[in-house]
Amino acid sequence: MQSKFLKGMLDFVSDKVQDESRQGEAFAPFTHDPNQYKKHFYIESYGCQMNFADSEIVASILNKEGFGATRNVDEADLIFINTCSIREKAEQTVRKRLTEFRKLKEQKKGMLVGVLGCMAERLKAKFLEEERLVDIVVGPDAYRSLPALVNDAEEGQKAVNVLLSRDETYADIAPVRLDSNGVTAFVSIMRGCNNMCSFCVVPFTRGRERSRDAASIVAECRDLFAKGYKEVTLLGQNVDSYYFVDEQNDETITFGKLLEKVAMISPLLRVRFSTSHPKDITDEVLHTMAKYENICNYIHLPVQSGSTRILQLMNRTYTREWYKKKVATIRQIIPDCGISSDVIAGFCTETEEDHQDTLSIMEYSRYDMSYMFFYSERPGTLAQKRYTDDIPADIKKKRLNEIVNLQNRLSLESNQKDIGKTFKVLIEGNSKRSEADWMGRNSQNKVIVFAKENHPLQKGDYVNVTVTDCTQATLLGKITQ
Ligand code: SF4
Repeated sequence: MQSKFLKGMLDFVSDKVQDESRQGEAFAPFTHDPNQYKKHFYIESYGCQMNFADSEIVASILNKEGFGATRNVDEADLIFINTCSIREKAEQTVRKRLTEFRKLKEQKKGMLVGVLGCMAERLKAKFLEEERLVDIVVGPDAYRSLPALVNDAEEGQKAVNVLLSRDETYADIAPVRLDSNGVTAFVSIMRGCNNMCSFCVVPFTRGRERSRDAASIVAECRDLFAKGYKEVTLLGQNVDSYYFVDEQNDETITFGKLLEKVAMISPLLRVRFSTSHPKDITDEVLHTMAKYENICNYIHLPVQSGSTRILQLMNRTYTREWYKKKVATIRQIIPDCGISSDVIAGFCTETEEDHQDTLSIMEYSRYDMSYMFFYSERPGTLAQKRYTDDIPADIKKKRLNEIVNLQNRLSLESNQKDIGKTFKVLIEGNSKRSEADWMGRNSQNKVIVFAKENHPLQKGDYVNVTVTDCTQATLLGKITQ
């Protein structure tokens, strides 16, 4: 984890899971026929899975307007960056990319550049003043207006729409799977967040919480399964507060019920979800996970800090004791559940004692993996308005290093405990190291690499694998029939 962290593309803190290896990747659907479209768009996404899922919504909207996706930026008539605003560094990365696009735009007459996502929402029209090459600025709730905005920009106007919505969920728009492995897919089930964690910009850049129509979620998962996908990850800033009233069938659907509906599509369809909030995850969800073998035994449960005093300043609305009890309940109901987390080092007024509380709660929770960062003050957040970012940078880095070193030990110990065990693994594709090896994950979301040998297997198949060795980040195994 640490090496990717140092790449700096992704240093952000919010309880979201993100696929570091995908930061800044340009996307095009792998079935795309370049001659089918007269005009092409190039989209680069940063930040969390919600942003990647949004880029697939954007691709669908642009496809309908006659724009085909391309991975080759030189081919593009339209360049979009789907931005992240969670840390200063994330925004610096976007500004750096924009400077690189400046040259391209100077060379290609009529090329348009647009910014999407949380940084667009945070800066709004100011983005146009700060970055002159930008023609279009669109917030996360305004992607339906893209066709009109592109038209305006093609006529030479600067185009902006950053209106946040109380009900937009894009439920009727079928995402175009960009750069998918054809096995796993993300399905967003809700948008926005009603929590007001004091360090977080999400409530300001993604608006109030709204849950998507349950029937449209189940339909999308059923459609993916019919297309050969074997795993869906249900996405939301805080999936546990999913709540939808189906008036037609007079049914109230909580997250536990939604999980069950998706799991019942087929026992061959694995179900994952992210992200959970410690104050909202219910025993109903845990018992539903325990009831269905195809709901994966893995929970991403951000703690952020182990100190109750700091948790209160962060407005996380739970205490150290409450969090520990949650972890104990998870382990009681699902003994082999994998747990990962998010941890912030160096939040305002954090003492050495608070920091030790963070280290000890990590030790208690025995995370398989965590996203770990030092606090970065964000404009407009409660913390910026109320507190001083008073922890010196060297102390922040020292504490972060201690947290990362501890997590590395916990990850290795967790993997070492799996040596000799046999897991049901979903093959996702070739391992990055060698085409002679498959890569997949077990129910606990651990990556496992194993030799193909002569077994007639292909990606999307399930296979039993016995763990023979491990590194801190990966299990190594052998196929066991
Ligand atoms: S405000 Fe919402 S998105 Fe941000 S950290 Fe809190 S729960 Fe997560």
